[in-house]
Amino acid sequence: MLGYTGKILNVNLTSGEMQEEILPDEVYQMVLSGVGLGVYLLYNRIPAGADPLGPENILGFVSGLLTGTGSLVTGRWMVVCKSPLTGGWGDANCGGNLSPAIKQCGYDGIFFSGISPIPVYLFIDNNGPQLLPAEPLWGLDAITSEEQLVQTHQVKKKPYVAAIGQAGENLSLISGICNDGGRIAARSGVGAVMGSKRLKAVVLSGTKAISSNDPARIKEISKELSAKIRKSNLPNIPGGLLPLGGMLLGGMKKGAPMDGMIMAGLMKRWGTIANNTMGVVNGDSPLKNWGGSVKDYSYKYYKNLNPDRIIKCETRKYHCYSCGIGCGGLVDISGLNGSTYKHTHKPEYETCCAFGGLVMNKDMDAIYLINELLNRAGMDSISAGTTVAFALECYEKGILTREYTGGLELAWGNAEAIAALVKLMIAREGIGDLLADGVKVAAQKLGNGSAEYAVHAGGQEPGMHDSRFDPLLAIHFSGDPTPGRHTIGSAQYYDVLHLWEKVSWAPNVGAYLKADEYIPSETLALKAVACSCYKELTDGAGGCLFAMVLGVEHWQLFEWLNAATGWEKTPDEFMEIGKRIQTLRQMFNIKHGIDPMSFRLHKRMAGEPPLKEGPLKGRTVPIEPMLRLYWQAFGWDQNGAPTTETITALGLNELLQPAS
Ligand code: SF4
Repeated sequence: MLGYTGKILNVNLTSGEMQEEILPDEVYQMVLSGVGLGVYLLYNRIPAGADPLGPENILGFVSGLLTGTGSLVTGRWMVVCKSPLTGGWGDANCGGNLSPAIKQCGYDGIFFSGISPIPVYLFIDNNGPQLLPAEPLWGLDAITSEEQLVQTHQVKKKPYVAAIGQAGENLSLISGICNDGGRIAARSGVGAVMGSKRLKAVVLSGTKAISSNDPARIKEISKELSAKIRKSNLPNIPGGLLPLGGMLLGGMKKGAPMDGMIMAGLMKRWGTIANNTMGVVNGDSPLKNWGGSVKDYSYKYYKNLNPDRIIKCETRKYHCYSCGIGCGGLVDISGLNGSTYKHTHKPEYETCCAFGGLVMNKDMDAIYLINELLNRAGMDSISAGTTVAFALECYEKGILTREYTGGLELAWGNAEAIAALVKLMIAREGIGDLLADGVKVAAQKLGNGSAEYAVHAGGQEPGMHDSRFDPLLAIHFSGDPTPGRHTIGSAQYYDVLHLWEKVSWAPNVGAYLKADEYIPSETLALKAVACSCYKELTDGAGGCLFAMVLGVEHWQLFEWLNAATGWEKTPDEFMEIGKRIQTLRQMFNIKHGIDPMSFRLHKRMAGEPPLKEGPLKGRTVPIEPMLRLYWQAFGWDQNGAPTTETITALGLNELLQPAS
């Protein structure tokens, strides 16, 4: 009765052996579930130096601690493993309905080791788990595979499926794992790990109850939030005015705490695409492979990304499990360039930017189709778009020639060629094979100075938010154990989280000069640490980022956690759990030989040299001293390794002794 099941399933794909494992309550008290449970278990279970695509890597599907307890916007599931993209800790998460489905099978997590001799999928219902042959599904896209598996296994309740598409099967290092008709846990190359194990899918059909310690209290908190979300509708501002809002916000010299409920209004109306045009104008969206500005990608280009035009194609809104916000939407794109796809997930902001401004494309119809191609193949749109941008710039500079591209004219904004390139990357054909593993690998293979145009941090392509616009973001892009991650923290997040209202050590800076954010300081470092700890806590609970940014007074994570578990922890004690999870993720990297300083931003991301025009003109981010202060504030040494004192204080020293 504690919000978690206390049980995981271990599946050895080499032998086919499956074993349930009971975990003590203390583990959950230390790291919650979700990403925390994943890294706690895998720290010792994956040996140092293990090949991420070999049998020693372990791939875990883990539910959030709060999932299914009656709390709101807490239905995200986490996938965890050693990342083949960075060589260090890997995790990714996704919404939909898979997180409760894991718990309804009686488990907090399902962990796969070994490599199956033939393609298989795991099916679980109330009678237990079975490994079943998946040869007929191998080669199919993730959505078609999901549809076939649902048809095969649906009795009464619809089973929920996580599957890889062709990208994961082809071991693309930028592939992810899909669920709920094309939603994707996209980052860290998790799809390639699943493909390397010859695991096509996981099909979950259990109906076990999910309980909690104090359902009445959970309901009370949820009711309060529901009412606020209902009231959060925005006035009827047309999407065409959003660039003006971006211009005003971008031009402000000061930042200040804001009420996060405005995010609920934006998300309900448009979803993440609310940032499509605002971001171009204020400098948040990286353009022309991080080398351009709104002067290059001007109104005649970005007007086509107006979110109103996209939601006009929506056939219905989409809500993940337990979500009252519903930022998603299904669109009908049948008829576009011969497409027959109906009811596909609309492209997110990240995809619109990665295949819009980043590659100088103004053809929104092409973005719909590319989005669908990637969601079906299970390829990360951030990494894919960044890799296409790299190829376009290499073509412009003469490093890639028409001969090399198989005749494709890789000019900036050539939508037809860009879509063709994406298809080649998915199939690993021709030049697509060079690009299918992301920019770092492509530049290593291509040589000839191409590394200059390969924008990444530690091997992972960065999210579509510019670190020159928000230097706190630069700390997370570079300092997080899964680098290139835009979802951990930023000045904008910090301003809406209001952590200082509940956490004793979170700085309450009030209004501040944005220019000060470009100067390394202990306050800035502490803000970044607070963001990291709170995000890891959120990922342990199964929370969604877009609920997290409503702020602690609205999305009451600490209170729900206590009500679900019966614990009586203070916010400071919960933040200590976040710190423990983050420290464990970093310890994993150190164990696997990663030098944290090697996760440095590509120099363009730090403004070296600074842009000569546009809203980010002249801005540079002194990332190295910022990182050192961030590590110090975490209790890690100046090279980013957690110190023995910190490890001991967090109760993690026992993990350093290999299990006997
Ligand atoms: S806010 Fe959007 S992504 Fe988050 S849980 Fe709700 S529908 Fe899913």
